[in-house]
Amino acid sequence: MRIVLLHMPWGAIDVPSLALGILHTAAERAGHQVDVRYANLDFVDWAAETAGFGVDDYQYFSEKSYFQGAGDWAFAGALYGDDGGSDGDGSDGEGDADAGTDAGFAGYFAYLATSGASEQEIALTRATRALAPVFIARLVEELAADPPDLVGFTTTFQQNTASLAAARLLKQRCPQVRTVFGGANCDGPQGAALHRNFPFLDFVVRGEGEAAFPALLAGLLEGGDLSAVPGLCWRDGSGTSTANVMTTRPLPPAAILAPRYDGFFERLDASVAAGWVDPKLVLEGSRGCWWGEKHHCTFCGLNGSSMEFRSKPPADFLAEVLTLVERHQLLDVYVVDNILDMGYFDTVLKSLAELPVDLRLHFEIKANLRRHQFQLLGDSGAAQVQPGIESLSTRVLRIMDKGVTGCQNVRALRDAQSAGVSVTWNYLYGFPGEQPADYESVIRQLPVLHHLDPPTGAGRIAIERFSPYFDRPELGFAITRPAFQYRATYRLPESELNELAYVFTAPPRGIGGDLAERLSTAVDTWLARFPDSRLSYRDAGGRIVLVNTRPGYDWRVVELTGPAELAAFRLLAQPRSTAALAAKVPGGAAAVEPVLERFTALGLLFHDGDSYLQVAVESDNQVLMRMQHRHGPAAARPRTEEVPDAVPIG
Ligand code: SF4
Repeated sequence: MRIVLLHMPWGAIDVPSLALGILHTAAERAGHQVDVRYANLDFVDWAAETAGFGVDDYQYFSEKSYFQGAGDWAFAGALYGDDGGSDGDGSDGEGDADAGTDAGFAGYFAYLATSGASEQEIALTRATRALAPVFIARLVEELAADPPDLVGFTTTFQQNTASLAAARLLKQRCPQVRTVFGGANCDGPQGAALHRNFPFLDFVVRGEGEAAFPALLAGLLEGGDLSAVPGLCWRDGSGTSTANVMTTRPLPPAAILAPRYDGFFERLDASVAAGWVDPKLVLEGSRGCWWGEKHHCTFCGLNGSSMEFRSKPPADFLAEVLTLVERHQLLDVYVVDNILDMGYFDTVLKSLAELPVDLRLHFEIKANLRRHQFQLLGDSGAAQVQPGIESLSTRVLRIMDKGVTGCQNVRALRDAQSAGVSVTWNYLYGFPGEQPADYESVIRQLPVLHHLDPPTGAGRIAIERFSPYFDRPELGFAITRPAFQYRATYRLPESELNELAYVFTAPPRGIGGDLAERLSTAVDTWLARFPDSRLSYRDAGGRIVLVNTRPGYDWRVVELTGPAELAAFRLLAQPRSTAALAAKVPGGAAAVEPVLERFTALGLLFHDGDSYLQVAVESDNQVLMRMQHRHGPAAARPRTEEVPDAVPIG
């Protein structure tokens, strides 16, 4: 069978599609001829030439506006065959072209504005909606010139409507071509709803595609029983949609295939996007989440219908990384696992640290790693990690069932920086049961942390399908409707949107708008001050020398020399209560109190509940980390010591 696999806007343009890379491997193994087409790059090149589209424009749709759904809204006109949103008079665009949605153009633009979109971004959204049908028509014409037997689409994040629009027109133009959807947007009821509501979709593969996709292809070739393919949505002779039950047994690790990325990097090289982004490999070592199997974080819908943790054998994963790095001559590797397998530390990471390769890896990790584990990450080439920090308050972290404390999260920020690894994270709020005091305390202390990696922003949590907040209303959210973006985008009854949507609305919980605003402002200040803020220490045995450039503290160099200070500082490398300190510091409780007072005045401590933690970074890596932040996380991995010895002055 001749197969074309399509990666539509707004798929990421700096990495190949892992899903299509895996399906490429699976279908070729089964003897089919496969072409992967990066229609997202086709769109970039075409839109850059015809409309001056730039990297910020693409990223507005692919990343920034995800929770407002601007990417899907922009292709909805192409899906529904309207006039491309060119309402001619520049008015609100309501009318036939937008009939059936909850919003109308004006309503959607007002929603974008209240969600923080600029006038320029709203104008971009409108203009892109006008461009979208032209692009889809061109793409389909090209496919129709030499139609394959089957076109497969992967849809994740904002790829639904662009994929649906192309599938609809393709089916009109070439009815014989089979159309297949798969990807995260098809998991569970979402895939069944897509299949039920869009009759031009012949099949939707739900769940892991390695087994189901080849089984579908075999069934089509041999006239097999499609009702036997787990999770598949298909149509009977009358066209009625049938959704097979999804399997409850996820694939074993050995069945998770390595992706094939042939053609992507050459295509990117030929694209205008080559000047916009740095190409990266994307790989997976595991699926599911070992933490979530025991304690599903209350807000997390990331693992869809399959939380069970499965990890490729370390030797296999290492070989996969090295093979693809060599084949594509690329050192930047984005590992998409939701959480790093702890078994990879002594195996994969250790081997990478010892090998003469200078990779730049991105991992998602659990935040309670220890200093030596961060060091191993750094030595193995991890330039950036995402520890899912989310909050610095133990009380709020407990509500999330995160399994870490506020001090452990700060320790992760500190120790990652000591190891030369940068951290990306978001500050989340809006949890049922949180109190203003949980935030007041953190906001007050943020100037202490200005030298550590700041969050990219602060935002109220969204209610995601598959999360405990979605599945268990008793946890505090009374879900009312699918998020507004779905109602503005699709012309479907709300009962169907309830099945198709991933993000839902519910009355806000937790802190109010004023405090949330103060948190956001404090985070903005942190972001602004981070590049020039530094707090580092060097432990010289008989003295500890600290250097500070954080604007909130007007000292430059301080020495700790007294036995109580030295002992307390070293003990506070780990979170400790005053009682625990008093038991170990020379002089006991009487000595601890003034030491903590001095450390607090100097801004050396983070305090949460009854725990304290010292926040100074080991001196070796701070200046280079700052350079990394200014020039992008993968710009350079610190390898040399550039910080001069701290010496007391004045
Ligand atoms: S937030 Fe991270 S650790 Fe928690 S369940 Fe989701 S993937 Fe696992």
